[in-house]
Amino acid sequence: MARVAVIGGGQLARMMQQSAIGLGLRLRLLAEGPDVSAAQVIPDMIVGDHTVLTDLEAAAEGAAVVTFDHEHVPPEHLRALAAAGHAPRPGPHALLYAQDKGEMRSRLTEMGVPCPRWAFVATAADVAEFGLPAVLKTTRGGYDGKGVWVVREPEDAEDAFSSGAQLIAEELVDFRRELSAQIARRPGGEVVAYPVVESRQAGGVCAEVVAPAPDLDPALAEAAAALAVRVATELDVVGMLAVELFETADGRILVNELAMRPHNTGHWSIDGAVTSQFENHLRAVADLPLGPSAPLRPWSVMVNVLGGRVEDLEGQLPAVFEAVPHAKVHLYGKAVEPGRKVGHVTVVGDDLDAVLANARRAAGLLVDG
Ligand code: ADP
Repeated sequence: MARVAVIGGGQLARMMQQSAIGLGLRLRLLAEGPDVSAAQVIPDMIVGDHTVLTDLEAAAEGAAVVTFDHEHVPPEHLRALAAAGHAPRPGPHALLYAQDKGEMRSRLTEMGVPCPRWAFVATAADVAEFGLPAVLKTTRGGYDGKGVWVVREPEDAEDAFSSGAQLIAEELVDFRRELSAQIARRPGGEVVAYPVVESRQAGGVCAEVVAPAPDLDPALAEAAAALAVRVATELDVVGMLAVELFETADGRILVNELAMRPHNTGHWSIDGAVTSQFENHLRAVADLPLGPSAPLRPWSVMVNVLGGRVEDLEGQLPAVFEAVPHAKVHLYGKAVEPGRKVGHVTVVGDDLDAVLANARRAAGLLVDG
């Protein structure tokens, strides 16, 4: 059973295939449709629904290990797969903390991990008692800023409550910037930490990532990496873990959220690190020794291609490579829609200003032409 089943056919599964080729691992994909991002590149593919156990079982057939493009597989289905002899990695006991922000906050608070002040809220009165301004979040199912509401006035909370979802409130953190600490972890506990990166968001969506985070206090970088290792170890995460962090104005780090899969803040590693996050995710879930995470060059900048005016992305490649020959372009095979993540560009080099300018220029040509 050398096959690894991957649940979910987005760009993360697509980029896993790139690493699987080198490792000689055969991926078997459960895709939402016949032509979704990863379905275009993984021949052993079945179309199905990740909330339907029989579809998950069909995908897992012949695979020792099951891993994920996203965190939305119901925990009871993961337990059923485990009972049938497949290893879901990460397992349901760990994945819970990436699936549910209430569980995540409760557990991290119990562990003494620094988080924004937070509480479960069910009514407008609860929010008033918590205090404004606040950020309301659905405990489940949010992504890319969906399911997140900044509440400055009481009426701002109406949309959140009308969603009918379970909510938590968090203090609105006045952060200096957002950081991400990623690690890979094997079943036996071996871990490899990546350099801590800075991620810059626009409208709740990651816009660009600079690796490593510029001017980060080395002690804070070490603390962030150690925190990620501790979280992965105590929660028993297998595969990649991303700990999204806020760096506060007074130099502290607070955990925003956890992702237990390759993450947008680690895409730079494909072109900028000795071992990419996708390769280390597969090595970890297949229980192979992990690869070094060291950067290849002093700076890597990854800029997301968020759908804009350009509809024919491939048609823009000549212009991109003309302008920035060393840009590494990753297109996801997705239809362009405004603001949708349809690809990313990474540029590496020695001079941060030049690297940043070139990465933005290349991505800009894929967004606005
Ligand atoms: P998602 O699950 O959609 O990624 P996040 O919890 O990461 O949701 O929130 C999305 C973005 O909203 C964050 O990257 C950050 O910019 C902002 N944000 C989230 N929580 C807070 C907070 N407590 N204070 C200030 N900004 C926040």
